[in-house]
Amino acid sequence: SCISSDPRGGSIISFTSSPFSKPLTTLEFLHADTNMKVLAILYDGKEAALQEPRLLGTTENKLGIADWLQKEGHEFIGDGLDTTLCVQHSIYIGRQVSSSKEGPDSDFQKHIVDAEVLITTPFHPGYLTKELIEKAKNLKLCITAGVGSDHIDLNAAVDHKIQVLEVSGSNVVSVAEHVVMSILLQVLVRNFMPAHEMIERGDWQVSDIARNAFDLEGKVVGTIGAGRIGYRVLQRLVPFDCKSLLYYDYAPLPAAAAQSVGAVRVEDLKEMVSQCDVVTVNCPLHEGTRGLVNDELLKHFKKGAWLVNTARGAICDKDAVARALKSGHLSGYSGDVWNVQPAPKDHVWRTMKNPLGGGNGMVPHYSGTTLDAQARYAAGAKSILENYLIGKAQEPANIIVGLGKYESKAYGQR
Ligand code: NAD
Repeated sequence: SCISSDPRGGSIISFTSSPFSKPLTTLEFLHADTNMKVLAILYDGKEAALQEPRLLGTTENKLGIADWLQKEGHEFIGDGLDTTLCVQHSIYIGRQVSSSKEGPDSDFQKHIVDAEVLITTPFHPGYLTKELIEKAKNLKLCITAGVGSDHIDLNAAVDHKIQVLEVSGSNVVSVAEHVVMSILLQVLVRNFMPAHEMIERGDWQVSDIARNAFDLEGKVVGTIGAGRIGYRVLQRLVPFDCKSLLYYDYAPLPAAAAQSVGAVRVEDLKEMVSQCDVVTVNCPLHEGTRGLVNDELLKHFKKGAWLVNTARGAICDKDAVARALKSGHLSGYSGDVWNVQPAPKDHVWRTMKNPLGGGNGMVPHYSGTTLDAQARYAAGAKSILENYLIGKAQEPANIIVGLGKYESKAYGQR
């Protein structure tokens, strides 16, 4: 693994190879006195996951955890695997990996009642509500394979002394690249999508595209949240010679970090958005950010601004955004996160357009699940599980909720 710098002076572990420099031995497993059930809710990768083993975050490839334990001479219980070895070694690791997560008959709700460890991914969130936490009597650890643990009721996790860890930093570059791509190409400033669609249709009318295409140079870009992703977005925008780069965050960037990208902090959100041509959302979803971008805040956006949200769908009010795009108050909205995932077929964000028929850059939740990111968060999730099994201290940057308290400062001002 290697350590890369964090704008706030912390460190980010990014795994470039297997995290198991010292793999677990059978003995360590026995000492760990393991007797636990691991429940993993992942998305079905179907044909693609069978063809592409690097699609690790799928029910088929199971974050590589099955392979890992088998390499160490252990077998899982569950899925018809041989249990003899576990019984011989007094090890019981019951494992359920499933994508079924909605409703009382889902695997998620059936198995959460006696699971000790829950592994989920933001890309196919198993929503762990307060009510489910109250039923989950054995639950001690929730691991988010990725970044963003808002699908877990974190306040209830604090109350029930359930720890919540994520693989901090694992996909922050992946998302920052997607944000910059969205600002530039996909929908927004360059009006790329309608241009490409015109070509596929067999048409050619340059003026229809150029009437709504601009340079990023000379524009004002602001980020709501300047943590690992927000800061990386600002870093990547530096060469575009924007007029100014602004940020809104209750935690100011260290002076040297702000100076190196030329970022200016604006303490009032309305004031910041009123100056921006492009606003990008890069803060977690919590009580203080749910519905933050609503009709009221949108009124303060410049007419014709572009909005990119790869943080969490519910930070933006779905209908307020659709209305603002339809009226042309927003020129474009782009992102990969939705208030409910998977998004219903008739979700207004799938098809909403600006008055010129463009401005929609919505995609499924995939910016942080590139194959490179999957390698890192699968390795990180295994590392968290390994630490838990052998009682080793967890990487502090990964701990969102520790025993009975928030450890991360990113989930609101407390
Ligand atoms: P981070 O913890 O490094 O940074 C979050 C920043 O947001 C912090 O600086 C925090 O102070 C700030 N913040 C919190 N509440 C705020 C508020 N009310 N107003 C302004 N700023 C606020 O997290 P990160 O790694 O940069 O990730 C940010 C979020 O991006 C995650 O929580 C997750 O929801 C989302 N994410 C999405 C994907 C994806 O695939 N689309 C992948 C990774 C992360």
